[in-house]
Amino acid sequence: MRVDVVVIGMGQAGLSAAYHLMRRGYEPAERMLLLDANAGPGGAWQHRWPSLTLKTANGVADLPGWGLREAIDVDDEVPAASTVARYYAAYEERMGLGVLRPVTVDRVEQPDGGGTDFVLTLSGDGRPADTLRARAIVNATGTWDRPRIPYYPGIASFEGRQLHTRDYTRAEDFAGSHVLVVGAGISAVQHLGELAQVTRTSWVSRSRPDIRNAEFTPEVGADVVARVAERVRQGLPPGSVVSNTGLPIAAVSSDALPRCRPMFDRIDRAGVVWDPEVPRAWGAVPEDGRLDVDVILWATGFIHRFDHLAPLDLHTPEGGLLVDGRATTRAVENHGVHLPGYGPSASTIGANRAGRAIARELDEYLAGLG
Ligand SMILES: Cc1cc2nc3c(=O)[nH]c(=O)nc-3n(C[C@H](O)[C@H](O)[C@H](O)COP(=O)(O)OP(=O)(O)OC[C@H]3O[C@@H](n4cnc5c(N)ncnc54)[C@H](O)[C@@H]3O)c2cc1C
Repeated sequence: MRVDVVVIGMGQAGLSAAYHLMRRGYEPAERMLLLDANAGPGGAWQHRWPSLTLKTANGVADLPGWGLREAIDVDDEVPAASTVARYYAAYEERMGLGVLRPVTVDRVEQPDGGGTDFVLTLSGDGRPADTLRARAIVNATGTWDRPRIPYYPGIASFEGRQLHTRDYTRAEDFAGSHVLVVGAGISAVQHLGELAQVTRTSWVSRSRPDIRNAEFTPEVGADVVARVAERVRQGLPPGSVVSNTGLPIAAVSSDALPRCRPMFDRIDRAGVVWDPEVPRAWGAVPEDGRLDVDVILWATGFIHRFDHLAPLDLHTPEGGLLVDGRATTRAVENHGVHLPGYGPSASTIGANRAGRAIARELDEYLAGLG
């Protein structure tokens, strides 16, 4: 089976690219195949914790051609997981996208080198074949499946519970437990706000929480996007969301937040430990150098899921991917590959904007191949 374009991953980034490609004549099932590893629509949103609603999320941008509130009835206070899944399902149906799922792309190769066919190896019940050939790839695989938990000595010896944001469901599950939240991103702050209502919390972070007074205006947003774009154009990893945006004051003004301590040095069976010999750049550690806790909640972010692209050798020595093009999604080393959802397009609004540029650039690229 051979098509012009395969879009891998049907979150906001994949849907937007698919919409714009369709408008340029890439009919699903004929010139384009849309694959998604999840069993149902919703991308990563379908898995997010129940207390994350459209009211508490940063906001979900409208997909191109059919806005959220036009498509479905919306209650801002119900879990965003179900709202967004309903929206994407309605959108896929209305646009006639014919997404194939569950289909996981395990490997993408280009056996004959740049400008020739990509060969994709597939698994999952929805797969149309075990392998596929495509002339171009839109990789929109997101980050949700790759939670990042940094290694600390003793991490395996902890006898309490450890979990990552990815597995957080609701604060009530932790009532009566002392919970240590690790990280200074928006997820960490949201977890702390909720947990403080039912239990005791502590907070540590590798760097001092970067609380910014400035409102998150469109100008600030544009500046952040420009900075992330510059980083990825140099092949550097994009950096965490808050390293670029800071924590908006509105997110952290809650009295519920405990004092943030600098990162500990190791973990033991009962909690976390700070080495007295290690100098601290900021913040104070407990006097006895340790904190006993029942739960460590790692709100330490996610890593992009690109393992299946390893044969294409796109990574830089710095651990980033060199990208350029109108939306900074095109692999510099291989113009047949676009990576929306990475770098400046790693938000629903960024992913949306990228779709149009990707469709145009891929159309030009494929026309150039003849
Ligand atoms: C906790 C959290 C909260 C966020 N909140 C917001 C917010 O409020 N507003 C905002 O704009 N952004 C937010 N973001 C940023 C995020 O970029 C957006 O949520 C955006 O929706 C991500 O869309 P995506 O299409 O890049 O990826 P995803 O929604 O993750 O979709 C990727 C899809 O690809 C599939 N997939 C992965 N690997 C494969 C494979 N090998 N083969 C086939 N399919 C595969 C997955 O199953 C998934 O369906 C948040 C991120 C996080 C982690």
